[in-house]
Amino acid sequence: MTPRWKVPALCATLLAPAVAVAISVTSVSVSLSDPPKAPPDRGFTLRYETPDPADEEHAALLHARRPAERAVEALNAYLDLPERVTVLARSCSGEGSGYDPVTRRIELCYDDLADDLALLGDEAAAADITAETLYHEAGHALIDTLRLPVASDRAEEDAADTFAAFMLIREGPPGERTLLAAAEAYRLAPPPGPGPDEHAPPADRAAAHLCLLHGAAPERHPAPTQGCAPAWPTVRDTWTRDLTPLLRTTPRPGVHGS
Ligand SMILES: [Zn+2]
Repeated sequence: MTPRWKVPALCATLLAPAVAVAISVTSVSVSLSDPPKAPPDRGFTLRYETPDPADEEHAALLHARRPAERAVEALNAYLDLPERVTVLARSCSGEGSGYDPVTRRIELCYDDLADDLALLGDEAAAADITAETLYHEAGHALIDTLRLPVASDRAEEDAADTFAAFMLIREGPPGERTLLAAAEAYRLAPPPGPGPDEHAPPADRAAAHLCLLHGAAPERHPAPTQGCAPAWPTVRDTWTRDLTPLLRTTPRPGVHGS
């Protein structure tokens, strides 16, 4: 849960060669001392940059909880993306996580985790909602790849949010807990500043997540008091239809790095 950007290009400083190590999401253990491995040429692939000293604890928490590994694995198991989208975990100095359509790179910021931890006060929940951030940015990447029509920047942000909810709800109760934690972080987030922001206000984003949770699993999630939009069946059916060209018809073992 963070404010997020989507811009035509990253600034030059961000395009400097990264001190990063490619990892396999199927690895049992992940170490920065593992030998570099050529990333696959299609699908989502995850790399960790060495964190700034101030972010070391948060990077370690991400390594320990593995929300990004699980999300990337779920995306690649569900979708056969015909090109590579790199998910790069890095220190962003407060710039916020985002997707760059030029480099086809998603940046996940260690420093965002500090913000979420301050809001939630729960290390596991704060780390796990990194998956919601990753899925949101993957939503942008899929809108880009599939050239899905979006009426406005705000509509694209809303669609990316619904993709995050869609992927988490597909995971069942564990994903629902992550989506609930993300909604809570949005609820607790300070109001946005006065500048332009293509995202819905945090309170609206929280309400949308709660609506989808209720729609998908009403036995576990009560109806929000303020009414509900968007509707879960619409979100589910729209994303399923839009993703049809990429859906795997049969599970393919050894997808990553093979
Ligand atoms: Zn976004």
